[in-house]
Amino acid sequence: MATWQDKLRKIAPYVPGEQPDDPTIIKLNTNENPYPPAPGVQKAVEDYKADPLRLYPNTQALPIVKALAEFYGRKEEEIFVGVGSDDVLATAFMSMFNSDEPVLFPDITYSFYDVWAELFRVPYKQIPLGEDFRIRKEDYYGPNGGVVLANPNAPTSLLEPVSVIEDIIQHNPDSVVIVDEAYVDFGGESVIPLIDKYPNLLVVQTFSKARSMAGMRVGYAIGNPKLIQAMNDVKYSYNSYTMNHPSMAFAVEAVKDKAYFEQTKAAIIATREETARRLTALGFTVLPSAANFLFVSHPGVPAEELFAALREKHIFVRYFKKPRIENFLRITIGTPEEMERFLEETEIYVRKKNAV
Ligand code: PMP
Repeated sequence: MATWQDKLRKIAPYVPGEQPDDPTIIKLNTNENPYPPAPGVQKAVEDYKADPLRLYPNTQALPIVKALAEFYGRKEEEIFVGVGSDDVLATAFMSMFNSDEPVLFPDITYSFYDVWAELFRVPYKQIPLGEDFRIRKEDYYGPNGGVVLANPNAPTSLLEPVSVIEDIIQHNPDSVVIVDEAYVDFGGESVIPLIDKYPNLLVVQTFSKARSMAGMRVGYAIGNPKLIQAMNDVKYSYNSYTMNHPSMAFAVEAVKDKAYFEQTKAAIIATREETARRLTALGFTVLPSAANFLFVSHPGVPAEELFAALREKHIFVRYFKKPRIENFLRITIGTPEEMERFLEETEIYVRKKNAV
């Protein structure tokens, strides 16, 4: 091998869910929202003029910062905006995890955390969730370089009460605790109000899920101004103009329309509960979800087989071939019609296996 090849960075990357070209595929594999963005976003897209593209955008994504500050009743200096919450989380890892102690996160959680830790050479320790896939708060009391918790967790869909998250923050006054609330709008309670009590808490959210804008790539963090300043310093040290002008114009419209936000969330929650009920009737174990997806397993139907059978029928769900969860499927909640098709094909397969 040529020596220049030895100098290349070798890293096992995060593997995103598939984004197939075929629009006839029922896509229940990446936790996108099945409903379009708010009508105001559509209008802003239609009205958009190309002229502002001449100029560099506002480095801080100020229009979005202002809209979020108003929505959450927070100060502008408490908000950081990035290119999807992946960008926000990566920036937070770089900004906040600079210790020789390991950063702690669960063994079963968003599979990007260990990838960023590897990329940024941050020591980390994956803490096993309980048998029931719940967080055991005592496991996060020891010395550490930081804590990262997704709540609701992915892919399990389970929500921890605010009291558990607060207990972990309380026990970690000397490190930053990041709470990734990508799915919190689908039935969880946000810990944003706790940032007044805990300057070491950073809450991360996204426009990709409840605000139907995964394709726009907008995410944000809310926390103490010192944390936000540290993130901005890191961001300005590698790329200052991260948020493009159209994304800002469109994202602002998505924040404004509270009624549409509430309405689409309620529709997804209703479809989730109905889908959970129907899957339970087919013999599935369905974890109680507070997210826009279900995490399910069936004693008589191997998850990997069902994943492949659904795929044949052009229904994509997510399967993770990983210890402890290799017999589970993660199913994004689509429209009622999409879920009907999914349930139809799932029932056919379960019956074929004589498992119901
Ligand atoms: N956190 C969690 C727990 C997620 O599941 C996702 C979606 N893949 C993200 C963060 C990142 O989402 P986005 O970059 O689209 O905001």
